[in-house]
Amino acid sequence: MTQLASFKALEKKLAAYQYVLNVVGWDSSTEAPKGAFKRRADMQSIISQEAFELWTSDEYRELLEALLNDSSLSELDQKSLQKAHKALSKVNQIPADEYAAYNKLLTLAQRTWEDAKANDDYESFKPTLGKIIETQKKLIAYRGETAEPYNVLLDDFEEGMTMEKYDAFFDVIRKDLVPFVQAVLINRPEKPAFIDRHFPKAGQKAFVEYLNEVFDYDLDKGLLKESVHPFTWNTHPSDVRYTVRYLEDFVFSSIFAGIHELGHATYEMGIDEALNDTRLKGGTSMGIHESQSRFYENVIGRSKAFWEVHYPKLKSLFPDALKDVDVDTFYLGINWVEQSFIRVEADELTYPLHIMIRYECERAIFNEGLSLDELPDVWNQKVKDYLSLTVKKDTDGLLQDVHWSGGAFGYFPTYALGSAYAAQIYYSMRKELDLDAVIKANDIPKINAWLKDKIHRFGKRKSPEEVLLEVTGEPFDAAYYIRYLKEKYSPLYLK
Ligand SMILES: [Zn+2]
Repeated sequence: MTQLASFKALEKKLAAYQYVLNVVGWDSSTEAPKGAFKRRADMQSIISQEAFELWTSDEYRELLEALLNDSSLSELDQKSLQKAHKALSKVNQIPADEYAAYNKLLTLAQRTWEDAKANDDYESFKPTLGKIIETQKKLIAYRGETAEPYNVLLDDFEEGMTMEKYDAFFDVIRKDLVPFVQAVLINRPEKPAFIDRHFPKAGQKAFVEYLNEVFDYDLDKGLLKESVHPFTWNTHPSDVRYTVRYLEDFVFSSIFAGIHELGHATYEMGIDEALNDTRLKGGTSMGIHESQSRFYENVIGRSKAFWEVHYPKLKSLFPDALKDVDVDTFYLGINWVEQSFIRVEADELTYPLHIMIRYECERAIFNEGLSLDELPDVWNQKVKDYLSLTVKKDTDGLLQDVHWSGGAFGYFPTYALGSAYAAQIYYSMRKELDLDAVIKANDIPKINAWLKDKIHRFGKRKSPEEVLLEVTGEPFDAAYYIRYLKEKYSPLYLK
């Protein structure tokens, strides 16, 4: 066997371990009985350990290093090897005992955070949070990274992104979007009453199944289930699943989280099968993935054109809740703008402000020495400045999100970046497709095909920067995001 064939065999073996772990993960989030928790954790840890040992073995590393700069290999193989090398270099310089200790710290931190959130007790979480941050800085140093720690973390979640680039992005949001949101808020009409009505689960289920057809979700390769938090799961373009939750007093959750996850799922299903078992499989970055989910959710799913076609179906499923609601009122309702404490409940317009708060806090912690004692006051002041709200309890403030307890610093900004990418892609698509007409003709497969051709099929063959440049002809430009939001929300609120 050639070195390349041996290396590929190891990669496939690692993929097999990962496949099994993913299936177990899917099961535990959807159908496994609660009581199975301990047994499952036992079995998972044995498989994870096996996989980790193989990945960090001398055999794997030596093959990788021998092949890394072999220019006789195909472009695809070379790129895959580079990705493999980058991934390995994130862990193989870290002493095994410290890596294991960090993972244990994160497992415990999850519980500590859950309790702190439930009891509105930041003080009880603070020491753990401090340890996570200190360990992160140490692990980054082991990797031999010379960039500033927060830049390393930002790049981990979105290749090519730095504080400099995010600062420029959030400057635009601060200067252009914050005043626009304030103008919208003071000009709001009365809140549409239907939003808070009761929508029975059976009707919601029927509508989400209908959406699967509208978005051409392939049920031979996909699956829809329920879970507490909606998510998309994938191991392969032929096995892509997603979940929703049905809240009878908040119908928007199943509809829009559902369309959001369909966006993630459509991306994964569209990736070229030739990339299977290479490091180039899967979506290229968090930001580009989120650009697809938000394009489906917001640009398509919250558009007037979409509901002109599909509102009659929804109304037929909820004859009571929607009997006195016309499509214009429905459209206002699904784009209702409201200041809220909780990020995951925020509307499209105020959402990036929630992300800006998190970005600025993380940046200050890692780069400006902000202490965890000062953090609550800094957080709360930003909520006041950007959302005009006074935080009364940390549960509604800096304790609300799971990310920090999992060590995921640098993750949040990709959410806002994804929305901004989506807007830039939208203006490009409009040069080639009459988007409103396509949506009104109920021809979403045409949009799927456009995105597959320009973005989905490449997987990780193209970096996020390359994707954007090739699809839109320009580097990332936040101005498109502001333009999109103003064009959509001005007619609704600033008439
Ligand atoms: Zn998402």
